[in-house]
Amino acid sequence: MLKSLKHRLALLLAAFLLVSIALFFLIANREIESLFITHANDQQEQRIQQIIFQVNDLFQNPNGTVSLDGLETIGNAALQNGILLHVTTLNREIDWDITTHKSDECNLILQHREMNMHSRYPTFEGGYEQRIEEITYNGIVIGEITLGYYGPFTFDDAELELVDALNRLLIILGTTFIVIAAVLGLVIAASISKPISSASTAARRISQGEYGVQIAERYTTAELQSLVDSINEMSSILKAKEEQKHRLTADVAHELRTPLTNLQGFIEAVIDGIWEPTTEMMVSCHEEIERLTRIVNLLLELDKYEDKRITLQYSSFSAMELCASVVNMFLLPAQEKNIRLQYSTDAFADICYADEGRLKQCMVNLVSNALRYTPEGGSIDVSYQNEEWYHVFAVRDTGIGISEENLEQIFERFFRADKSRNQKTGGIGIGLTITKAIVDMHGGIISVNSEPGKGSCFTIKIPKADVSQLDRNETEREE
Ligand code: ADP
Repeated sequence: MLKSLKHRLALLLAAFLLVSIALFFLIANREIESLFITHANDQQEQRIQQIIFQVNDLFQNPNGTVSLDGLETIGNAALQNGILLHVTTLNREIDWDITTHKSDECNLILQHREMNMHSRYPTFEGGYEQRIEEITYNGIVIGEITLGYYGPFTFDDAELELVDALNRLLIILGTTFIVIAAVLGLVIAASISKPISSASTAARRISQGEYGVQIAERYTTAELQSLVDSINEMSSILKAKEEQKHRLTADVAHELRTPLTNLQGFIEAVIDGIWEPTTEMMVSCHEEIERLTRIVNLLLELDKYEDKRITLQYSSFSAMELCASVVNMFLLPAQEKNIRLQYSTDAFADICYADEGRLKQCMVNLVSNALRYTPEGGSIDVSYQNEEWYHVFAVRDTGIGISEENLEQIFERFFRADKSRNQKTGGIGIGLTITKAIVDMHGGIISVNSEPGKGSCFTIKIPKADVSQLDRNETEREE
């Protein structure tokens, strides 16, 4: 079964933290324990040494007498610390044993110590141990001290309480840390998995045709935000494409309907015997068919450019020669319309590296538009300029111009500023769209300046390096 990323991450983090914390507390516990054992052993040794010293001190009397009361005091104090004192002299004059004085109390104290140790370490292997030390006077051994205790080491009540308190503290701290770690793990896991699950939900909705879906949340992890951005961008592009597809279908249907309706009307009138199929009528029909064919051919051409199915044929050529040949193509129709058509340049060098044929097609489109939208007596100037980074071609006319609100849509498919006028001029609103597509393929820029009633100026800027070269330079510069 598939587990969610959130659960997986949370589990992984929780397991990792649990093991780390458990390990930390285990080590801390062992260290504290061993510190206490060393401390307990040191304490025991100190007490024993103190008893030995005190007993020896009692025997340092030059007149040979020893205070039995003093022995009793030392013995009682030792007993409180879990040590049973037995003092004998070699001449058997003194044989003082705490067990003969306080037998019950001795048993009780030893049992209590044993209980203490077993309560702390259930498997503690201890038992009654004895240690024998000498009593000396002027360097001569005069007796011995026997020290009995529950060993190898013991904790008294205060020490045991302290060890237990420390262990309790460790357990409380450990549990608190584990709870904090688990909560933190969940929060971190959620913060990582949330953007991914949002992205996956959005991707699923997009795949189901819900284009334009956007993930609104912003995330602080760069990679996750970049994933979300990519999904949002993909969704917007798909939406735009979808809208473009709908618009194209509507536009094409709309454009084809008029000539088709005209044709249908003519033919139906002939069939019904209303009109005679005259040559004039046939010419009209032929014109409509020609228009339909032109629309279809232009659309097919545009599709190839927009789908990037055409590869540009780069070559070096003279920009001025290109302008001259375009101007020459239109000299006769310009003359007929009494329009002054000329070309100029102030460039010393004019060698261009681009797709000559397609660039010429762009210039032909611009000049033919200029001719179409410039009234008699006007003028059209074609020019070339050699700028630092671009080859700049311009077509300036003194025609009808384009209003500001139309300027934005001028390069859109089927856009015509004045449909009725264009119907007469034969324009179908695809020429500039194709021109822009060709310029785009070159990595260039097409722009227009226009003033209604005064004229327009279309400018094409073609980058000097070919597009791939330019892309590479761009990437290198970014790096
Ligand atoms: P068309 O086949 O209609 O000329 P274009 O795409 O070439 O199609 O042009 C789109 C529209 O832009 C034209 O219908 C016209 O309204 C406007 N236009 C283009 N060039 C000019 C120009 N030089 N002067 C004025 N209007 C222009």
